[in-house]
Amino acid sequence: MSVGGRRWRLPVTAGAALVAIYLLGVWAVYFTPESGSVAFWWPAAGVSVALLAFAPRSWWPALVGGIVAASFAANITGGRSVDVAVAFSLANATEAVIAGHLLKRPDGRLIELEQLRDFVRLVGASVAGALALAVLAGATVALNDMGPFLPTARNLLTSHAAAVLTIVPVAMTWRLRAGVAERWEYAVQATLLLAVTLVIFVPVHELPVAAVGLPLLVWAALRLAPRTVAVEILGTAVIAVLLTAAGRGPYGLLGQAEATVQLSASLVLGYILTSALIALPLTLAITQRVRDLDTLSESETLFRRNFTESLTGMLLLSRRGNRLEVVDANETAHALLDDGHRSVVGRYLDRVLTQPTAVRGVTQTMLRGNLDGWRGQLGIIHRPESQIEVAISQLTAGDDEAIFAAQLLDVTPLHQSLARTQAAEQLTNALLDTARCIMIMTDMAGTVVRVNHATTALTGYAEDELLGRPLWAHIIPAALVEDTQEMFAGPDGKELAGSRESDLRTATGDPLRVLWNTDLVRDDLGAPQYAVLTGVDVTAERAGAGLMSNLFQAGISTAILGLDAQGRIRVLNSGAESLLGCASEELQGRQFVDVLDPEELRERTDESGGTGWGALASTLDGGNESVVRDWTWRTVQGRRRTVEMTICGGGSQFGPLAGFLVVGRDVTEQRQGQLMLMTALEKERVAADRLRQLDSAKNEFVSTVSHELRTPVTSIVGYTEMLVDGAPVAPDPQQVPLLETIARNGDRLISLCNDLLALAGIDNGGTVWDRSVVDLRELAEQTEESLRPMVRHRDLSVTFDLPDVPVRVLGDAVQLERVMLNLLSNAVKFTPDQGKVSTRLWQDDGEAWLTVADSGIGIPQEEQGGLFQKFFRSSTAQAMAIQGTGLGLSIVAGIVAAHGGRIAVDSTVGQGSTFSVRLPLHVA
Ligand code: ADP
Repeated sequence: MSVGGRRWRLPVTAGAALVAIYLLGVWAVYFTPESGSVAFWWPAAGVSVALLAFAPRSWWPALVGGIVAASFAANITGGRSVDVAVAFSLANATEAVIAGHLLKRPDGRLIELEQLRDFVRLVGASVAGALALAVLAGATVALNDMGPFLPTARNLLTSHAAAVLTIVPVAMTWRLRAGVAERWEYAVQATLLLAVTLVIFVPVHELPVAAVGLPLLVWAALRLAPRTVAVEILGTAVIAVLLTAAGRGPYGLLGQAEATVQLSASLVLGYILTSALIALPLTLAITQRVRDLDTLSESETLFRRNFTESLTGMLLLSRRGNRLEVVDANETAHALLDDGHRSVVGRYLDRVLTQPTAVRGVTQTMLRGNLDGWRGQLGIIHRPESQIEVAISQLTAGDDEAIFAAQLLDVTPLHQSLARTQAAEQLTNALLDTARCIMIMTDMAGTVVRVNHATTALTGYAEDELLGRPLWAHIIPAALVEDTQEMFAGPDGKELAGSRESDLRTATGDPLRVLWNTDLVRDDLGAPQYAVLTGVDVTAERAGAGLMSNLFQAGISTAILGLDAQGRIRVLNSGAESLLGCASEELQGRQFVDVLDPEELRERTDESGGTGWGALASTLDGGNESVVRDWTWRTVQGRRRTVEMTICGGGSQFGPLAGFLVVGRDVTEQRQGQLMLMTALEKERVAADRLRQLDSAKNEFVSTVSHELRTPVTSIVGYTEMLVDGAPVAPDPQQVPLLETIARNGDRLISLCNDLLALAGIDNGGTVWDRSVVDLRELAEQTEESLRPMVRHRDLSVTFDLPDVPVRVLGDAVQLERVMLNLLSNAVKFTPDQGKVSTRLWQDDGEAWLTVADSGIGIPQEEQGGLFQKFFRSSTAQAMAIQGTGLGLSIVAGIVAAHGGRIAVDSTVGQGSTFSVRLPLHVA
């Protein structure tokens, strides 16, 4: 049915109903017994009640008006006065409103006749409506002198109640079309009912056979649909009323007589009411029973299906003494509890499940009625690892017959997976807590839901302080809070995922540099649920990198260049920039060999056979490190710098030679300085050589002169001594002192010549040294002898402290005696009378020691450095005009040195001097 159709159905139905009310009213008035004031069956009332009960309440004002109008019109048409017509029509409407209202469900729809209580309500509504009408219409009749109130009201009550009870059920059962009978049974029953009704009511007779139709209506009530029953009741009522009104049927003759009209009407109404009151409740009772049976069988089927097909194990248990025995089990329960040999059916429940004492205890408590049901987790005896959820409930009570049901749910997999999950969770927890990086889990609003041990350890915040709060509550520095919030606010968490490096604030306020990596945990649909932030503390590394960078940049005087494997400059420090005179960007990517002097490079790498970087790299020592060497670098401005350079190959974990490191130091100025120094030294050497040549020429000259002088002077001295001695003639006594002076000075001249000749021999290696074993003690004794004439006329204490054993050295006895004599003669010479001269000889530690000490004039400290140089004479000696040439000590030093010995002096002016000579002992 279309929507449009529905829309016009109610107006059409209402219109038809109002027309029917009018026509039925006219018909009823027309059939009103002449002796009576009111009709004995008022079908219009049934239609009115049905109309209001069926129509929505919003329609009621219009419909009530329509009912009043239709009733009024019918009464007027039937010839009643306007007053009466108005009163009757209002009474009719009142009845319809009351009964219609009582027949409505709370939702405003008409009650259906499904249960007996609905029928009771129908009866109540029809009586209530009819009662109201009876009062109103009865009063109208009485007031208009149309008849007495009470009989009129009674007639009205029955006529209207009968009309409502026969007509409204049709509306109330309109949708109840289900009966147990087949179609043919409907046809047979209806035909029989019609036939019987006609047979009863068509012939004019007085036989009390009206009740013959009732069994047929009972048949209908037992077998046919409620709607059919209602229609048949209405149909028989109409036939009965019409034929009786026409004077036919068992009650028709009664109506002929005025006095009995009411009686016949009452009888017909009685028939109608009886039919309705018998057939309708019966059909309802039957329908309800059929429905209940259906429900019952449905629920039984459902139960059976539930029981057998359930995925839950189901057991039916019966009491055996104080225990429960399994009497039935579904397939799932069999699969769960059968142990492969025996079925679970017939066994005690406490023999099948673990914890038998608990099961028995529960059973007994339930049997005593103290427990309706129990549930718990138990194992199955023959499957030790199993876990099942058991729910036992009592189905029927009874001391011996009590039946219980048990539901069994195998939760073993759940249990096992729970155990696995717990183990996995423990593992995850352990992993999280032993991980050394920060791990924080937040929801998508940024609230922290999980932190690991490293987070609390590194940040210094306790877990409680972090959990349940936004990420930026503590650990995000104030400057980054807004950015962090924005990242979380971004759609789908897209801005969160990925890596970034940022600062983190610890509880002590110190910043930590953290390298973050954020991932999203998504649900099955791919929507992000959580963000997992993993942070690695890189503070130390970054600080180190900063230091390295500072260090790298600080080395201005040292150039450091990082080259790739092909020798291209990849990184360089400020030292390299300043050395090469340009910025790092200009140099990056250039070949390092371009910095070098090509000529020099070619020369030094000639042997390798290659060119350029390849040739240079091949010269690295063992392929790894070059020797430190000066190279010429060319600056960008074209200047040439000398650079002390090393190259080393930088192996790394990625390969043996990932690159090279060049370290160079600008040594241009240094090398220039060195060069200048070397030139100066060379000049000095040449000058020294010249001096040496000059010295030897001078020595040669002196020795030649000395040699040439010595012979004539010796001759002069010899002849002078002859003259003093009186040969050939004795000299004049006045001449003797003059001659002696000539001879003395001649001797001094000879001695000077000897000294000069000795020195020249020592200096130029011309002296031929004797190398024999010399006993210094013996030599000292000889020297003492030689010294005696010199001290004869002096007031000096001269002592010799000589050892008992010989002191042997290897050397020239003549020269060594000269050493002793020279030192002793100096001591005597520079020591005034009453002084002391003491000589001591001993041997110690492989050396011969000779000391000559005096208490003489001494030598000033500042002059002692030049003591052993030629022609040295101390200021004290010169001041005191003590004669000497200043050659003696230099000859002594030369002789001692030639014997591998050493000479030293210790002297204080005015106190004396001590000369000490050490010579290596001769080892036999
Ligand atoms: P000469 O004695 O002929 O001057 P020497 O070479 O023996 O030459 O001595 C050099 C100088 O050293 C002496 O002139 C003297 O000034 C100083 N000298 C040497 N021996 C002594 C000494 N025992 N006491 C003080 N001065 C001495």
